[in-house]
Amino acid sequence: MGVIKVARPPKDRSIFHAALGYLTTIAQGMGVTLKIFIKQLTHMEKTETLEWPEQAVTYGDRFKGKHFLTKRPDGQVRCTACFLCATACPAQCIYIQAGQHPENATEKFPVRFEIDILRCVFCGYCEEACPVDAIRLGPEYAMADTDEKKWVYTKDYLVDRSELHGGITSIKLENEKHPSITHEPSAEERVSVVRFGHH
Ligand code: SF4
Ligand code: SF4
Repeated sequence: MGVIKVARPPKDRSIFHAALGYLTTIAQGMGVTLKIFIKQLTHMEKTETLEWPEQAVTYGDRFKGKHFLTKRPDGQVRCTACFLCATACPAQCIYIQAGQHPENATEKFPVRFEIDILRCVFCGYCEEACPVDAIRLGPEYAMADTDEKKWVYTKDYLVDRSELHGGITSIKLENEKHPSITHEPSAEERVSVVRFGHH
């Protein structure tokens, strides 16, 4: 049987050296913090901290916040209950119950349209899947609440909550689908792409 030679383990550094290393590192970190603190206190450096909710945050136009359902020019809900959004939703959080449109024999409408917002991942697939611009994700981001019933957005809430100021009318023609990627929206279309302000 061969002999296995093992080396002596290296000597441990003393506790004093270890403690000195820790304290030096902590002091260096505190020094960086103190430097930034003094710079921001004396306005030599801009702070990025916002005093929300007193100070509103404005995200870009492509921000995907709370959903809403658009209306037609005559005030009716634009959704035709085609289920494309519910099918595309990866979180399966859209529930639609379709009914026959009372004035149009070839069209349906949503008797119920609900979104379980606690399951939603705000991916925007529902918005992309909709062929008639009936569902969009708007700029609202403040959603905290203690009432569990409010976590399921109902059709009424999606169409006409107070923040929507009477609802959003889509300017798309009835049979017009989403513009293609090469389509250059007009000034009127740009404005209509939901800017109803923060709340
Ligand atoms: S944003 Fe995404 S997860 Fe949320 S309802 Fe739409 S498709 Fe579903
Ligand atoms: S919101 Fe659009 S995709 Fe979803 S059911 Fe209504 S029409 Fe279809």
